Amino acid sequence: MDSLDIAFAEARRYLASLDTRPVASRGTPDDMRSMLPSHFPEHGMPANDVVRAIAAAAEPGLTANASGRFFAWVKGGALPAALATDIMCSAWDQNAVLASTSPAGAVLEEVAGQYLLEALGLPSDASYAFVTGCQMAHTTALAAARHGVLARQGWDVEAKGLQGSPAIRILANAHHHSSVTRSLRLLGLGSDCIEPLGGKAPGKVDTDVLQAALAQAPDAPTIVILNAGDLNIGACDDFEVLCPISQASGAWVHVDGAFGLWANASPRLTPLVKGIALADSWATDGHKWLNTPYDCGMAITRDPQAHSAAMRMTAAYLNSGGPVRDPMDFTPEWSRRARSLPTLAALMELGRDGLAAMVDRCCDHAVAIYDGIAALDGATGIARPTMNQGLIRFDAKNGNNISDAVVAAINASGEAFLSGGTWNAERVMRISVCGWNTSANDVARTVAAAGKALSQLKQQAD
Ligand SMILES: *Cc1c(COP(=O)(O)O)cnc(C)c1O
Repeated sequence: MDSLDIAFAEARRYLASLDTRPVASRGTPDDMRSMLPSHFPEHGMPANDVVRAIAAAAEPGLTANASGRFFAWVKGGALPAALATDIMCSAWDQNAVLASTSPAGAVLEEVAGQYLLEALGLPSDASYAFVTGCQMAHTTALAAARHGVLARQGWDVEAKGLQGSPAIRILANAHHHSSVTRSLRLLGLGSDCIEPLGGKAPGKVDTDVLQAALAQAPDAPTIVILNAGDLNIGACDDFEVLCPISQASGAWVHVDGAFGLWANASPRLTPLVKGIALADSWATDGHKWLNTPYDCGMAITRDPQAHSAAMRMTAAYLNSGGPVRDPMDFTPEWSRRARSLPTLAALMELGRDGLAAMVDRCCDHAVAIYDGIAALDGATGIARPTMNQGLIRFDAKNGNNISDAVVAAINASGEAFLSGGTWNAERVMRISVCGWNTSANDVARTVAAAGKALSQLKQQAD
């Protein structure tokens, strides 16, 4: 046995345990620390022993988000072909930075990018970048947006930066994700520049609210940030109406579609995101709804020139400019793994019909979990999933909100894992279904676990 055999055996043992192991980890920090040398070893260890030691140290602290009963935050598992391809990527150890450093990394990334645009129903000539996650996808796309809106004012932001530039307005859906705020910070725009836009429908920007905001400074360089799937209820903005209005006043429209962009891959769900292809840039994740392993974010823009102007750099020793696209002309990273390949694998394993079926299945399971739990005594449905996200509140007989305690009790049971959240100033349980392998049996086990947790807590309270 060599260290790769050991790693494969550990990986197989772990995957085989997903149906029976507790979804939440049960170990303490010391359970993990105590399995490793307490100081940097004076002498090296055989590779086999290292792999065994790290496997043993990690085991008590592993969260089984690849299980079919993980519904917290927004996390998918990893499809078999995507996982296997990810492992090959590590073995090949390619630097997918230029076509000349890794022809395979560059050419296969072109195929992955083409499939991605086709799967998501976005313009075939859009530019794309495979980055670490949606956080960096926002940073990349918003850097392109920053270039685009300032170039129209004759300002070269790559050369001059933001010192003395015309002030950029950021009009963002009030329910934007915190990663949007951090990207604006990283880009030198700061979080205070966000002008939050709301509306009558929960999580959505109203047309007249956007129109009024744009009219306040029609000539200012402006970026409008809309949502495809907010993380609480999966609300989507009315792209078909809001994109043309924004663009008519010269604004760049960026969409946070970390998971919600995948709705456009399902004929059943496309009405929720109608007009999404009209935007100027999109940020999404493979490691959420596409079910690739982590490290698979994607930034996509309608304006390849703005995108590459924001990211490209040159150095005398680089050998670029050939017939194959150089990945680093579009990414904020220099050296990078061939991270497009798990996406390529997932898209090929699913195909158009399989992708739509997976997205639809997750939505159906989300509704089934919601309906099953909301019907329990003490539970109140707050938001029935229109996509894959739902909210439920739990109350004790005395009227106290016990949502956090119910979530904690379900998670402690090991049967399922959910997260809490705040919606309209009250604590709720969030349900998010993204996993390719969630089954009807997983749904039934989760509803049963919630029922048990709720009745135990109510007995204690009585
Ligand atoms: C998860 C998420 C993000 C951030 O994505 P990362 O891949 O964690 O960087 C941004 N927006 C929304 C709506 C999300 O759900």
